[in-house]
Amino acid sequence: MKMICVGRNYVLHAKELGNAIPEEPVLFLKPSTALNREREFYIPAFTQQMEYEAEIVLKIVKNGKFIDPAFAWKYVSEITVGIDFTARDVQSQLKSKGLPWEIAKAFDNSASLGQWVPLDTVIDRDAIPFQLFLNDNLVQDGNTKDMLFSVPTLISYISKYFTLQTGDYIFTGTPAGVGQVKIGDRLQGFIAGVKLLECHIS
Ligand code: MG
Repeated sequence: MKMICVGRNYVLHAKELGNAIPEEPVLFLKPSTALNREREFYIPAFTQQMEYEAEIVLKIVKNGKFIDPAFAWKYVSEITVGIDFTARDVQSQLKSKGLPWEIAKAFDNSASLGQWVPLDTVIDRDAIPFQLFLNDNLVQDGNTKDMLFSVPTLISYISKYFTLQTGDYIFTGTPAGVGQVKIGDRLQGFIAGVKLLECHIS
């Protein structure tokens, strides 16, 4: 199992981090060891700036390569909201040197997932509203209709480079409002008003 993650897929988020608007999807990977199976997230010792990024996550249900965008949704069985935990200070140092991000984003337990929702129960798969609350304050309020690159475009693009396999996950990018977590914080993620994710920071 692998997790393919998309960076800078919402204009306002790209701007809040001072990044250019990409002309093609920005991709990176998290290994299977990045999957956090607990409701606790422990801040690792190597960072002073751990940040949340709430994202719509897709579960891949069949293998595919060079997938046509017109058939891309057939490769997705379920969706949820997940957190792409990011050691922002480490990432910023790496970015400034032009180096890969992996240790800032693909470390152990850096991917938290909510409960899965069958895709066929989603009312409008091209406009999925999702929200993240930090200690009961709304901090991210996104909608997949605001993606720079839609889900079919992403799946087609990703599958040119990486064969998609049953059980893979795709993190589709975060909207504006990312921020830091501290010990004792609580994150709650929603899709269309339904709570799917709860994560306690330790
Ligand atoms: Mg992200």
